[in-house]
Amino acid sequence: MIPMLDLKREMNLIGEEIDKAVKSSLKETRFILGPNVESFEKEVAEYLGVKYAVGVGSGTEALHLALRALGVGEGDEVITVPFTFIATAEAILYCNAKPVFVDVDEETMNIDVTQLENKITEKTKVIIPVHLFGNPANLDEVIEVAKKYNIKVLDDCAQSFGAEYKGKKIGSICDVSAFSFFPSKNLGCYGDGGLITTDDESVYNTLKALRNHGSFTRYYHEMLGFNSRLDDIQAAILRVKLKYIDKLNNDRIRIANLYRDRLSDFVKIQAENDNGQHVYHQFTIVSEKRDLIQKRLQEHEIASAIYYPIPVHLQKSFSKLGYKKGDFPVSEKLAEKVVSLPMNPFLEDEEVEIISSVVKNAVNE
Ligand SMILES: *Cc1c(COP(=O)(O)O)cnc(C)c1O
Repeated sequence: MIPMLDLKREMNLIGEEIDKAVKSSLKETRFILGPNVESFEKEVAEYLGVKYAVGVGSGTEALHLALRALGVGEGDEVITVPFTFIATAEAILYCNAKPVFVDVDEETMNIDVTQLENKITEKTKVIIPVHLFGNPANLDEVIEVAKKYNIKVLDDCAQSFGAEYKGKKIGSICDVSAFSFFPSKNLGCYGDGGLITTDDESVYNTLKALRNHGSFTRYYHEMLGFNSRLDDIQAAILRVKLKYIDKLNNDRIRIANLYRDRLSDFVKIQAENDNGQHVYHQFTIVSEKRDLIQKRLQEHEIASAIYYPIPVHLQKSFSKLGYKKGDFPVSEKLAEKVVSLPMNPFLEDEEVEIISSVVKNAVNE
């Protein structure tokens, strides 16, 4: 069986260090906003090249609190893409704001910047580009439009830890950035966790209160806040894993190149942004024969997954917004034709060869 992701192989590499880190956090017993959280926030901010980092309870909460810190509320519109994980858009609804979708570009699968300006109204407050599958979105174009209309940019970096755009790390470029440490992400912890980064001191201060019941001083509550904190044990784990992230991302990139070499004549592959470094959270192909490819992979005990089978605007939980089939044709088409192949830093070259040949044979049937 070849799984999508194999965290057991990761344990072989870093298990001992993780044991030590968890034990030291247990010994310290400062589990909420403890010393590892503070150290991790400093270390990760330095890695990303950004002034401030705030650890929160999940990637979803990172998006939600970031929107609140940017002042998004009832009556506001927030622009994002329909071809993403549901959390990107859920966060907008949590703020009682309205999600406004811009379709994605068929090649890069990221926001189609040519359609962006049309969607801006007087109510638009924030744009959320998503770096889908680890592929950086065209941030310069998004930021240019945002500046013109005095709108903020919050990028969803959940799948793109370590990715770069024009020589800068993703997470250091927009007004605010949101990351997830869900275990399967490029930088994942062993539970739920998330992070918000910014260079803006006042946004940073607001975020620190928002994650902690709206309080700067204990039992004095300045605003409606939440309980959403990265916990100390997870931060201890992340401090270990941060040391390995470049190596692990480089392994993903190497594996993606191998896949690309074997498969590019047979299937379409998500196009990399020429101005950036994709970090291959997922390796995603597009084929008319998607279902057959999945069936053949399964027969060979090879996992595969569809990210995402239903675009956000057609999800039941978003039906109130009144979108219908045909509204975002590229996202809808991708939802019908994409399939992601096993991708993780521990995949062996022979496994990539086997997977590639099963895909190739399925396409040639
Ligand atoms: C994983 C993910 C999230 C949510 O992160 P959680 O930590 O699971 O809450 C948000 N957006 C995207 C694009 C994701 O992939």
